[in-house]
Amino acid sequence: MNNKITALARTSVLALTPYQSARDEFRGQASLYLDANENPYATGFNRYPDAQQQRLKEAVAKLKKVSPAQLLLTNGSDEAIDLLIRAFCNPGKDTIIIPQPTYGMYATYAAINEVSIKTVNLKPDFTLDMDAVQAALTPSTKMIFLCSPNNPSGNLLAESTVISLLNNFKGLVVVDEAYIDFTGKPGWIRQLGKHGNLVLLHTFSKAWGLAGLRLGACVADPEVIELLNKIKPPYNISSYSERRVIQEITSNRSKVKQRVDMLIRERKALTRALSQIPTVKHIYPSDANFLLVKVRDAKTAYRKLIEQGIVVRNRSGMMHCDNCLRITVGTPIQNRRLIKAMNQL
Ligand SMILES: *Cc1c(COP(=O)(O)O)cnc(C)c1O
Repeated sequence: MNNKITALARTSVLALTPYQSARDEFRGQASLYLDANENPYATGFNRYPDAQQQRLKEAVAKLKKVSPAQLLLTNGSDEAIDLLIRAFCNPGKDTIIIPQPTYGMYATYAAINEVSIKTVNLKPDFTLDMDAVQAALTPSTKMIFLCSPNNPSGNLLAESTVISLLNNFKGLVVVDEAYIDFTGKPGWIRQLGKHGNLVLLHTFSKAWGLAGLRLGACVADPEVIELLNKIKPPYNISSYSERRVIQEITSNRSKVKQRVDMLIRERKALTRALSQIPTVKHIYPSDANFLLVKVRDAKTAYRKLIEQGIVVRNRSGMMHCDNCLRITVGTPIQNRRLIKAMNQL
C-alpha cells in the first residue's frame, strides 16, 4: 500500500461507506432475482447493469495491458475528471493547477465543486513551462491536469517535463490521453508501476469512434481506483454501452486501427493542403485528430465556413490562440470540401 496517495484524499471520502446496491450485497448466480425491483418481463434491458462492470473491465484491461484493479470505467472520461476532483479536493481549501490553453472540462468541474484553480500558461509553442508550474505549486495543490496530446494545440507534452513533475510533486499528475492513439506512441501506461501519483484518462470517444456510447477510463494505482470506486454512481455504465464496447474490442480492432492510420495520413495531407492557402498563417504540429490553424481573421473565416455548412471551432479566445481555428480531421472527401471552402475565403 502506498499510503502517501491515500493521505491526499478527502477525509469524508476515506470515511465513506459506499452505497450498497442489490447486486453488491448478493454476488453469484441465482435462479430468481427479486432483489432490485426490476421489471420481470424481458426487454433486453430490464435488469440493472453490473455495477463493477467486470466483463467490460476485463476486456479493457486486456486491451490496455493493465490489471482490472488499475481501471475505473466511467461515463465518458469527463466523469473521471469530476470523480478525481471530488475524491481528492476539499472545496474551498485545496487547489488544482491547470495549464492554459487546454481542455475546458477540468476548470468547469473544479468550479462546480468549488475547488479553486491556478492557471499556468503554456509557452507560446504550447510546451509546459516548468518554472511557472513550480512557482504555482503550494502545499494545498492536490493535482495538476496535463493533456497530452493537448487540446486545442495538438502537441504531446515532453516526457522529461512530465517525469520531473511526477518525481517532484507529491500530488496527483493527471495525464489526459484522449488522443494518444493518434500519436503512434505508447503513452504513459507503461510508467504507471513506477509512479503512484500518475493518473491517466482514456476514452473510447475519439480513436474508437464511440463518443455516443459514453465510455471513458481512468487508469491509475489500484489505491486511487479504489477511492474513486467508492464515490462513483453505482450504475454509471449502461448495459448497452457495456455490450457494444466489448463487441468492438473483441471483433473490430483491426478496423479501428485502419481508421486511425487513415486519419493520421489525412492529418498530413490536410496540413499540406492548408499550408497552400493564403489566409492560413500557421499550422501547429499535431499528434491528434485535429489541427490548430492560425488564419488571418478567425472570426470571418468561422462565419464564412458556416455559410458553407461547415462548422469548425474558433479557439481565438484561448491563451496563445489568437485567430486560431481548431479543425477536426475528417474523411478524404470531407477534407477536400473543407479545403475548397478555405480556398474561397
Ligand atoms: C474529447 C476529449 C475527451 C473525451 O471526453 P469523453 O467524456 O470521454 O467523451 C477527454 N479529454 C479531452 C482533452 C478531450 O478532448
